[in-house]
Amino acid sequence: MPQEKWNYNPFWDEVVLRLQSTVSEQEYITWLNRVSYAESKHQKIILAVPSLFIRDYITTQYKQTITELLIELTGEKIDVELIVKETSPKKEQPKVSVAPLPKVRTKPKDTNINPIYRFDSFVVGDNCSFAYNASMAIAKNPGVSYNPCLIYGGVGLGKTHLIQSIGNFIQQNSPELQVVYVTAEMFTNEFIQAIGEEKTPQFRNKYRKADVLLIDDIHFLQKKASTQEEMFHVFNNLFEANKQLVFTCDRPIEEVKDIADRLKNRFSRGINVDLLPPDFETRLAILRRKSNDKGFAVSSEVLEYIAKNIQTNVRDLEASLTKLIAYSELLNKEITLDIAQEQLKNTFSLAKDQSLTIDSIIKVVANYFNISPYDIKGKKRTKSVVLPRQIAMYVGRTITDYSTTEIGYEFGGRDHTTVMHSVQKIEGLIQSDIAVSNSVQHLIRQISDAKREK
Ligand code: ADP
Ligand code: MG
Repeated sequence: MPQEKWNYNPFWDEVVLRLQSTVSEQEYITWLNRVSYAESKHQKIILAVPSLFIRDYITTQYKQTITELLIELTGEKIDVELIVKETSPKKEQPKVSVAPLPKVRTKPKDTNINPIYRFDSFVVGDNCSFAYNASMAIAKNPGVSYNPCLIYGGVGLGKTHLIQSIGNFIQQNSPELQVVYVTAEMFTNEFIQAIGEEKTPQFRNKYRKADVLLIDDIHFLQKKASTQEEMFHVFNNLFEANKQLVFTCDRPIEEVKDIADRLKNRFSRGINVDLLPPDFETRLAILRRKSNDKGFAVSSEVLEYIAKNIQTNVRDLEASLTKLIAYSELLNKEITLDIAQEQLKNTFSLAKDQSLTIDSIIKVVANYFNISPYDIKGKKRTKSVVLPRQIAMYVGRTITDYSTTEIGYEFGGRDHTTVMHSVQKIEGLIQSDIAVSNSVQHLIRQISDAKREK
């Protein structure tokens, strides 16, 4: 097929989205946001960066992960080349322009809220109607009835979409209100930075000025006692002033470990609403909606095929559809059921799973290497423990949908960068060391089989 025009740009966009969800905002702004798509060649993607320094950093820290993600998305090995280019846009005019100043893409200035998350793009099924209605009521009348509000549910079920929809709605309809959206991770980092720079008064002021405070993923506060303490005061201040507070969490608050009871009480004092996995009809409606939004007609047969195979996670539903659309655009072919089956078979066989806990993975890996789960989670740095630990992190990251932050927490409170590093390390070893590659494959099979038998 010599005439095909290669265009890996859609895949690159998806890679960026996925990387963005695994790194801190600071990391993203400083590094990843400086990389832009430049050009595609046969099995090669060319990315532009503004300096040699950034090129080296991206090469050592991210190139391997980018390559792996591209394999996952396209099903083939695509060379990644990084070139240093002036920031003035030239010929190909990349979709993602090289940013001269650090600034998060697609987000308007001075807010972390993504404008694409709106109520009208949220598909309401029985699984989420309560959460949707509560969020809408809050957006229409902030601080009046449901306060505070805690939205909880598993990964990829729409928590961020809903909480940011509240923010977007209020910004649009009540522009006089000060809306602050942060993830608990951003809140933590800002707080630590403020202490380091002796700027806690400014930090507190920012939160005290909020009329609406939206905090995503509060489970991140586990084990962070001083940040919890700070959050507690922020909460009390705003709550007493009748300001609206909305939180999200990946599980019911009582199941979150290592958060002070008094803070848990605050979080759950108002209304608690859950997001459940969507049923088949809702999954189909979401897929219809997303394909329409992307201006792409996909047959019902294909949409039903995806909806049947991905049951627990809207993010994965969307990713499958994106993959098919990108494939179809790339080759200029209509998507038939055969093509969908062929393209998605790996995605489905490894469909990320929330019912699998990191603890159960640690047990299997520890058993396989004849060491104790305690050692895997512990601090020992002997070779006989470090490799199994890294393999367990890799397996956890590969077959579940837990973020590197969540996985780090389960591994004795390690940092997400440690998890990322381990994953990259094992990815490298899988290519170069047949023993590691065999062990990993064996473990993944063993864990998947054990699950299936349940
Ligand atoms: P969470 O924060 O719970 O992990 P997100 O809000 O990031 O999940 O949702 C993952 C993806 O799925 C997002 O792209 C979001 O737009 C989409 N999504 C989730 N639920 C719905 C829904 N009910 N309707 C439309 N899109 C949804
Ligand atoms: Mg989220």
